[in-house]
Amino acid sequence: MSTVPELFGSQVFNETVMKARLPKDTFKALMKTRKEGQPLVSDVANVVANAMKDWAVEKGCTHYTHWFQPMTGITAEKHDSFIYPVDGEKVIMEFSGKELVKGEPDASSFPSGGLRATFEARGYTAWDPTSDAFIKDDTLCIPTAFCSYGGEALDKKTPLLRAMNALNKQAMRILRLFGNTTAQRVNTTVGPEQEYFLIDRELYLNRRDLVYTGRTLFGAEPPKGQEMEDHYFGVIKPRVKAFMKDLNEELWKLGILAKTEHNEVAPAQHELAPIFTGTNIAADHNQLTMEIMKKVAAKHGMACLLHEKPFDGVNGSGKHNNWSMATDTGVNLLDPGDSPRENAQFLLFLVAVLEAVDEHQDLLRISVASAGNDHRLGANEAPPAIISIFLGDELTAVLDSIEQGKHYAQKDKEVLTVGVDELPPLSKDATDRNRTSPFAFTGNRFEFRSLGSTVSIACPNMMLNTIVADVLEKYADRLEKAKDFTKELNVIIHDAYHDHKRIVFNGDGYTDEWIAEAKKRGLLNLPSTADALPYYTRPENVKLFEHHGVLAKDEVFSRRDIQLENYAKQLHIEALTMVDMIYKDILPAAGKYMKDLSEEVATKTSVCAGISAEFEKDTLKELSALSDSLYKETKTLQKAIAGEGKGSVQEQAEYARNALFTQMEKTRKVADQIEPKVGKTYWPYPTYGDLLFSVL
Ligand code: ADP
Ligand code: MG
Repeated sequence: MSTVPELFGSQVFNETVMKARLPKDTFKALMKTRKEGQPLVSDVANVVANAMKDWAVEKGCTHYTHWFQPMTGITAEKHDSFIYPVDGEKVIMEFSGKELVKGEPDASSFPSGGLRATFEARGYTAWDPTSDAFIKDDTLCIPTAFCSYGGEALDKKTPLLRAMNALNKQAMRILRLFGNTTAQRVNTTVGPEQEYFLIDRELYLNRRDLVYTGRTLFGAEPPKGQEMEDHYFGVIKPRVKAFMKDLNEELWKLGILAKTEHNEVAPAQHELAPIFTGTNIAADHNQLTMEIMKKVAAKHGMACLLHEKPFDGVNGSGKHNNWSMATDTGVNLLDPGDSPRENAQFLLFLVAVLEAVDEHQDLLRISVASAGNDHRLGANEAPPAIISIFLGDELTAVLDSIEQGKHYAQKDKEVLTVGVDELPPLSKDATDRNRTSPFAFTGNRFEFRSLGSTVSIACPNMMLNTIVADVLEKYADRLEKAKDFTKELNVIIHDAYHDHKRIVFNGDGYTDEWIAEAKKRGLLNLPSTADALPYYTRPENVKLFEHHGVLAKDEVFSRRDIQLENYAKQLHIEALTMVDMIYKDILPAAGKYMKDLSEEVATKTSVCAGISAEFEKDTLKELSALSDSLYKETKTLQKAIAGEGKGSVQEQAEYARNALFTQMEKTRKVADQIEPKVGKTYWPYPTYGDLLFSVL
């Protein structure tokens, strides 16, 4: 393989391969399943399985796996070889339709948030034929959904697929009302921009905090940070360039449309953006991208950090979720277009998103809530924990004029009456200047920017699709009943904007004034995961998910519990790691340095009586006091750890936030004061400077 087009998709059992390798009827039946969700009959499954196996074996595969996305947030796989014994002594390579369509991994060791208690431990994986099988590490991977024996979703993908269907159903109703007879399906499209850090692998392995928790729990500020702003879009260093080249090739082989790469704001921070695809494919691809980033980094002697906040004091990493809705005929429903009919339809979809985001701020906040992301949201670098929408001045002015029934300044029309008028052309540049908004309209899509770098994009998009579907349903109900379509359309757009414009904020989201203003507007501000999660199970939310067939009541509760548990567990591990590092490394290092300093004072004064040894004595005093203080804070932290595990999952999460997290911050502060005072050869870990400027 040499050229990129040859490389692209070479490890994917995609439509081209299917067409070439499957009998015509089988291919047709499979396409029907893919496009219309028809169940796959076993004869067809057998033929497909056999063709897949032959293809995979030719490419060196010995194993297959059902590849799924349990609630751990990462992917899971259990490998089986294709071997099948014949004649007592020989084997052949076999793969049946049954094995392709359904797997039965033991579900009991995956998080189920209580669903396991009421149902059998057995779970099963079911092939998602809309996502292509692919080869990774000589194994044929079959993308699947993962359910409990009773059919409850135990994964991130099933609810996403359900939500995509919900949105399709309602958006299609709207399109039909606008006279569109050609589109058969509306899909949501997503392009996730992935941020990450690259550091030297040797140094990484010397930091147990990074290895155990993904972030540094200690680290004094280095002499140089990101203040020079010399990294963003800077020249990519040769070692990083080599990594990116390898990474792109691996991603292309898997049919992932890796497109844009650049240095990010913080030193050692980078970004990769693929070209957007359908949402469930984008979710699969993003999981694969994160996994492959780590693998390729290791091959290049580096570690790829995907944590939201690996380093205190420098920018953390996010994942911008560019989202839109598009027909199967290729029309982007959030493209303003240039004819009146398209404008009106665009404005309706636009206000639907506005209304959905305003009505369901809680769900969007929940969809990005994690221990790691709590460090970003609300810090001065990522969008705040308050959800608001940036529309840009032009679009806001258009909607304002509609609301007020007034003249829109740029046009010589009296009133923009939506159904018949033409929108003034929106300049694309004007819509993308704001970088602080959590949810920004960027010309022909929305960019949901609150996602942390580690998070699976499945949940945020499941939420987005569900809430927008819900609003579209209301609109479709009204429009279908309306006697005068245009009039009703105008009323809907007018009212939606009027009632929900509090969610629009075009200013700087990083300021304290915005926090006060948002409070005045009645917008939710849920700073931590523990604050956000209780909203998940509000009766209206349960009703929403049930109504659209996205999550059953049990599934909502289980998801809330899993997220809370994960949060408490993450903080628990961080606290234990902190204690471990203090006793095993930091205090002993400070002790050794103090001992050497004391000996130096003793030696100096014995050689030369009356010598001052000011530096040694001062440092000794300071370090001794700081060591005592660190010891005291650590004991308090240990007490906090001992108090864990009481009450409901919600109470445990709150405890983790209030008792553990707060005490960890205090403890760290002292350790970070010790670090600069201890001689370099004594300090047990690579410093921030070492880590951030390690890859040259
Ligand atoms: P920026 O950093 O300026 O926001 P990037 O080029 O890094 O832009 O990323 C933009 C992302 O948005 C890409 O993944 C791109 O494919 C995606 N995108 C563009 N149009 C759409 C769309 N209609 N729906 C979803 N994603 C889109
Ligand atoms: Mg970008």
